Amino acid sequence: MSNLLDINQNLHSYIVDSSVRQPEALAKLYSTTLTYPDSQMVTMPDQAQFIGFLLKLINAKKVIEVGVYTGYCTSWIAMALPENGKVIAIDRDERWYGIGQECWRELGVESKIDLRTGEAIDILSELKSSSQAGQFDAVFIDADKSNYDNYYEIALRLVRQKGLIIFDNMLWSGKVADPDKNDLSTRSLRDLTYKIKNDDRVDFSLITVADGVGLAIKR
Ligand code: CA
Repeated sequence: MSNLLDINQNLHSYIVDSSVRQPEALAKLYSTTLTYPDSQMVTMPDQAQFIGFLLKLINAKKVIEVGVYTGYCTSWIAMALPENGKVIAIDRDERWYGIGQECWRELGVESKIDLRTGEAIDILSELKSSSQAGQFDAVFIDADKSNYDNYYEIALRLVRQKGLIIFDNMLWSGKVADPDKNDLSTRSLRDLTYKIKNDDRVDFSLITVADGVGLAIKR
């Protein structure tokens, strides 16, 4: 007998309601984000809290976020870091630049966020060639899916040993499990998942939070 849950909207609402501890400023940023175009890109509250939880677990101080959007998840990351912690938050879309800033100020985390606009591949490659390579505790990848494998390879060089690489949307609304779905994003995510499964540079886990979260720890 299977105990697999069907995570429907009702159960998800219960999860958020019964477990997410969210300051007022953050709840406001979330509801504001829902009014923006592409609001399906926002990280769900339970997932964002989970990411913050993981970062605390590994005592993360230096984190990179690839794909910021309005900065909702960035807020959770920054809240999880100590006072001297820093998240380099990268997004190529200038439309979203600074939307989260008022919230970050209210939360008192603005000084921990280094917001950068540009192509993630370029910014990550620069960091890889800098003295910061191998110094990061975690990288959260939540941007264009066809580049996930490229982000993964650079992230592996950026994190320390036992550093964490977190991938969002790894279940892609379930499309990855449908052999008839073979668009570029779906294929990229499916291929990467099997690649990491067989990659002995990391330990790997695929979790059914929100749209699927992949967790890789560098060996
Ligand atoms: Ca996402």
